[in-house]
Amino acid sequence: MTLRSETECLMSRLGVAADALSGGSMACVSPLTGERIADISPAGVADAAAAIAAAKAAFGDWRMVPAPRRGELVRLLGEELRAAKDDLGRLVSVEAGKSPSEGAGEVQEMIDICDFAVGLSRQLYGLTIATERPGHRMMETWHPLGPVGVITAFNFPVAVWAWNAALALVCGNPVIWKPSEKTPLTALACGAVLGRALARFGAAPEALVQVLPGGPELGNALVESPDVALVSATGSTRMGRIVGPKVAARFGRSILELGGNNAGIVCPSADTAMTLRAVAFGAMGTAGQRCTTMRRLFVHDDIYDALVPGLIRAYASVSVGNPLETDALVGPLIDGAAYRAMQEALEAARAAGGTVHGGTREDIGPDSAYYARPALVEMPAQTGPVLEETFAPILYVMRYSDFDAVLEAHNAVGAGLSSSIFTTDLREMELFLSARGSDCGIANVNIGTSGAEIGGAFGGEKETGGGRESGSDAWKSYMRRATNTINYSRELPLAQGVVFDI
Ligand code: NAD
Repeated sequence: MTLRSETECLMSRLGVAADALSGGSMACVSPLTGERIADISPAGVADAAAAIAAAKAAFGDWRMVPAPRRGELVRLLGEELRAAKDDLGRLVSVEAGKSPSEGAGEVQEMIDICDFAVGLSRQLYGLTIATERPGHRMMETWHPLGPVGVITAFNFPVAVWAWNAALALVCGNPVIWKPSEKTPLTALACGAVLGRALARFGAAPEALVQVLPGGPELGNALVESPDVALVSATGSTRMGRIVGPKVAARFGRSILELGGNNAGIVCPSADTAMTLRAVAFGAMGTAGQRCTTMRRLFVHDDIYDALVPGLIRAYASVSVGNPLETDALVGPLIDGAAYRAMQEALEAARAAGGTVHGGTREDIGPDSAYYARPALVEMPAQTGPVLEETFAPILYVMRYSDFDAVLEAHNAVGAGLSSSIFTTDLREMELFLSARGSDCGIANVNIGTSGAEIGGAFGGEKETGGGRESGSDAWKSYMRRATNTINYSRELPLAQGVVFDI
């Protein structure tokens, strides 16, 4: 079976008719083979405007549905996702090139956030606050915010939408989704899965969740519209630099989930065997195409020779290939541009004195597919390409001898997403997690930088954008807070003892 016909079968089982997959002007390409697997019709800017108007109308009704009832829709979505897990996971592999376990894992993450959001739908708590005025009560109330525009990246084509949609829906907001132009099929499939949940739910407003496949111009329509209360944008820092100021200029709210340049520090007391496995998965998993991929590794002089030669051997021997045809651990890069960016970074690393191991193109599949052996680069210092995110499997390895200096070097890059320390020394661990330690939104001990779970808030600082999604109290970004003061006395005492007798 060709990938195109497999795609048609998967899409049809997921609920998208075959005639939606051909005849359109938007080519969908699988990175596994470079094969064209569908030609769909993109939405236009006028469609985006209509979608925003429809979402605004839906908001009027959805905000009045009690939150636990809104949670019921998300519970049903979780059930439909469980039923669709195999097909949707496989489609993620076909469209984004992930291994079957990573494709299925992404759908599992969608299910997990649905479970989380269902519980949350009964826990959208506000505080009761002590007031200085007698006969008064002060409290805060959380209300739905308005339509939420969700812009997503290719590398987590479905999970990031679910992180946003599950929370936005229980918080009382309609959702308009602009998926990556590289992965629109999985988005259409999610739309169909959600359609089944909506049908079972019954009386949800029209246009509660809409999908707009197409390019950045559609994202821009969401960004510029004053009727989109919150723009949750996941992608490169380059995109965030455009989107963030535009949303801010209209006093809209944004959640920015942007690029990472994640590092690990390996201390002398680290468990070398475990560290090697954690670094290998963190740096090579998903072919280096996770926002949390480990890209820099600082290794103490005393442990360098015990760790790095083994790591270089792991890079030389890791299986690279089509993950749907083999049990390869490293799949393809998303496209030729990603491969060229990887080669440019390696060239720059060589020019800066780096020793490159691996990084060459693997002869797998047709010319239109881009498979590369992951690269480990021993660098004399943190310079040149080490300071930037290249969205490919490159790990820059550097030596260190002084703990304070390595903390400083760790934080001396623009991005601030994820970080790890490998140590069994309590003092080093606590310092890394302290106010003068890692400046990232995620700081781990003895696990890699990638592979976050739903319960925690996900996101990062600095050029990663500052947004938080998914767990903890990330839901607060999807609601507006009102502080209410109620006077149940017959007096009118003023705060701070102010007198205004009239
Ligand atoms: P990208 O920035 O090229 O595109 C992301 C999305 O933004 C796409 O849907 C695209 O159409 C849209 N977009 C681009 N320019 C826009 C504009 N001017 N206005 C509105 N929308 C616009 O990113 P990508 O190549 O798809 O994904 C890889 C990047 O995403 C990496 O930098 C990675 O670190 C980052 N990422 C971050 C997270 C996170 O949670 N921090 C998660 C996944 C990916």
